[in-house]
Amino acid sequence: ITFDNFNLDPRLIQAINKLGFEHPTLIQSQSIKLSLQEKKDIIAKASTGSGKTAAYCIPIIQSILVGKESSNSKNDNNNKIETVILVPTKELAKQVSTFLKDLTIYCGKFIKIVNVNDIINDKLLTTVLNENPEIIVSTPSKLLSILELNSNISLMELKYLVIDEVDLILSYGYDEDLEKLSNYLNLKQHMQVFMMSATLNEDINKFKFKFCNKPAILKL
Ligand code: AMP
Repeated sequence: ITFDNFNLDPRLIQAINKLGFEHPTLIQSQSIKLSLQEKKDIIAKASTGSGKTAAYCIPIIQSILVGKESSNSKNDNNNKIETVILVPTKELAKQVSTFLKDLTIYCGKFIKIVNVNDIINDKLLTTVLNENPEIIVSTPSKLLSILELNSNISLMELKYLVIDEVDLILSYGYDEDLEKLSNYLNLKQHMQVFMMSATLNEDINKFKFKFCNKPAILKL
């Protein structure tokens, strides 16, 4: 099996080739298939090294590209925050946003990615966010502080939500932030959710029920 099996956008395939990925890892092939073909929410028991980052980044970029192609009007949903990726640490935020930039290297300016933890200056951050980046990478606390400061930033039309390393997010005491963040989301109008965690336990279940709709559980 290769990445050609998933009918991905040629720009994405080209970037995957450039990264030197020849075959999808187990979690990648399952996640790509279930999320793109069956539109499933995904909960994956996956630790670092499994290829978990690409397992959510590839289907999200593919979906954004497809969405842009099918939206014919120039000023409909094109410029809304479509994706939020929550991670436990600034380091991981940096890694994930760098990886996303590598994956979108052939997509021109179509997909803007912002690592909000990287921008310390509030004014600059507001400017950047007003340019409506498609993908925001953030720790829960940073995103919460942004939402509390900028009432014009809305996540109500979010299409993809990733909570990466959920177990670490919870162990760092970010539970309350996740809880508060959920108030900024339109949980009724369904978005696609990816939750990745090295362990799956009771604590994670609480957020599974809050954010996910009949998720596929991948335990590899
Ligand atoms: P992750 O589990 O997402 O932290 O990824 C671990 C490492 O594996 C990263 O350095 C990735 O660049 C690399 N990687 C992810 N997917 C693949 C793949 N399909 N083929 C080769 N390397 C990969």
